[in-house]
Amino acid sequence: MTASDSASLGTALITGASSGIGALYADRLARRGYDLILVARNRQKLDRLADDITNRTGRAVEVFTADLGDAASLATVEDKLRQDASITLLVNNAGIGTHTPLLQSDVARMTEMIHLNVTAPMRLAYAAVPGFVARSRGALINIASVVAIAPETLNGVYGASKAFVLAFSQSLRHELAAQGVRVQAVLPGATATDFWALGGLPVEHLPSHIVMRADDLVDAALVGFDRNEAVTIPSLHDEQAWQTYEAARQALAPQLSSHQPAQRYLAGA
Ligand code: NAP
Repeated sequence: MTASDSASLGTALITGASSGIGALYADRLARRGYDLILVARNRQKLDRLADDITNRTGRAVEVFTADLGDAASLATVEDKLRQDASITLLVNNAGIGTHTPLLQSDVARMTEMIHLNVTAPMRLAYAAVPGFVARSRGALINIASVVAIAPETLNGVYGASKAFVLAFSQSLRHELAAQGVRVQAVLPGATATDFWALGGLPVEHLPSHIVMRADDLVDAALVGFDRNEAVTIPSLHDEQAWQTYEAARQALAPQLSSHQPAQRYLAGA
């Protein structure tokens, strides 16, 4: 990549950049030549990462402390996205999860999860995308999860929050296709980060053959981005399996509305 290529990449704003997958996106995107805005709550971790990345790559890295579960704090990041025309990429990554079954979970905690996993990425997309469209340039990477299509696997509210992220991404991609704005949903399987311990199940308790290293996950997800994939599942080896699933979904779409109930639902049929 030449210096002028890299100068033209613009700035990537990454949420949840203080650790795990988000911190690795920060590293990889800086190495590709993006300047960065790193968002999370832990200022110390963000500062350390920003210094390290600037020293290694020479890219400009701004730290933005915000609690994305808090409406007022979230609004400061929305303002930044609306006002800073250098931003060309939004990585909606911040998120929390748990494996605790629905009925054993505290509803207040589940509500906080929805604020962070659903409301925040939705509002940040609303803040960023009009500028991307106006400038005919920009991309959105939304970190969902494989539980978006397998919600029976972990906590149901977590799975449902990630199903929202997937559906939202698919819809946005469809809507923005002709307007020069790319949208990718990334569906990680189990990935070795603090996410698991924070959710009450340390990652060491999972069978190691289902757990991917976070750097492998991010590198693979960026290959998917370069391939302009709508949905990237780094841990799914059989690509055809996804294509079959997606083709079946697309084939259902035109059959899903009708003026009359299906025969099997007619009383006495
Ligand atoms: P992680 O290491 O725990 O990172 C989560 C990041 O989100 C941290 O930087 C954290 O920073 C930030 N965050 C948490 N609450 C926040 C809040 N209220 N406001 C702002 N930032 C907040 O976990 P990770 O695995 O990298 O998770 C990243 C994304 O991947 C999540 O959306 C998760 O659902 C998804 N994912 C993970 C896995 C997995 O197995 N690890 C699998 C599928 C999907 P602060 O604490 O500094 O705020």
